Amino acid sequence: MPAGVQLACGGRADHGRVRGGPRDAAGRGGGRGDPDRPLPLPQRAAPAVSHLLAISPHLDDAAFSIGGTLAAHVRAGGRVTVLTCFTGNVARPTGFALACQRDKGLADDVDYMALRRAEDEAACAVIGAEAIHLPFLEAPHRGYACAVALFGARRGDDAIVAPLAEALADAIARLAPDRIAGPLAIGGHVDHVVVREALARATDTALLWEDWPYADRHALSPSAEPAQRTVLDDGLRAARHAMCAAYATQIGFQFGDAGRLAARLAGIGEERLYGQGVMSVRPAR
Ligand SMILES: [Zn+2]
Repeated sequence: MPAGVQLACGGRADHGRVRGGPRDAAGRGGGRGDPDRPLPLPQRAAPAVSHLLAISPHLDDAAFSIGGTLAAHVRAGGRVTVLTCFTGNVARPTGFALACQRDKGLADDVDYMALRRAEDEAACAVIGAEAIHLPFLEAPHRGYACAVALFGARRGDDAIVAPLAEALADAIARLAPDRIAGPLAIGGHVDHVVVREALARATDTALLWEDWPYADRHALSPSAEPAQRTVLDDGLRAARHAMCAAYATQIGFQFGDAGRLAARLAGIGEERLYGQGVMSVRPAR
């Protein structure tokens, strides 16, 4: 390196006072015009912000399963969108659909899905994520008439995958996320299975989360290492807890009470996501 030549390093960039080039021996500026006059800033693209799109079957799944990962993405400066597939309303639910509402302690005249959409907005607000609600109907409104049916064979007349895949492809094209996450469908809930299938039609770049709390009740033998792990520190665990707690209508049904939700979350050390092809989960037929 020639004597007197220094590599620029360190210091604070002074973007407000970009000046012309060095003067020559005669004192003429090497840049354009007056060397002491600030030059216009070069036009730079805005810094790229990583955008994580989480495809959630129901209004709670993404937060329940990877709330810490979503919070970590925001903490790292990224953007998070939680798109939930099954948030549609039925004016007067009956039968099993109504029972699903009653078993959450809600009266018949409560607009259950409106309540749940509001919970989702609150959960996303915990980390500053955007919530998007697709109007597809949950399984109890598609002919699955009891709890066993939700985890059993897919109905022959359930043609939800094609329109769901189309909607997911449209959302991915519009939002242009650089990261996509969705459910592995652990536990085999038909709504989770069809979302996994629809997502596979829409993209081959998604990572799939372990569906929680179902993952606690189903032993898994992963055929491959996770593609991503999020180790939960206190801040991430607190964010996941706050997001989960926002789904107030679901806490008693899923966990018993808020204390048990907290205790179970406290026992989770990391969140794991897998590539779309690496794990076999029993499909609903
Ligand atoms: Zn779910």
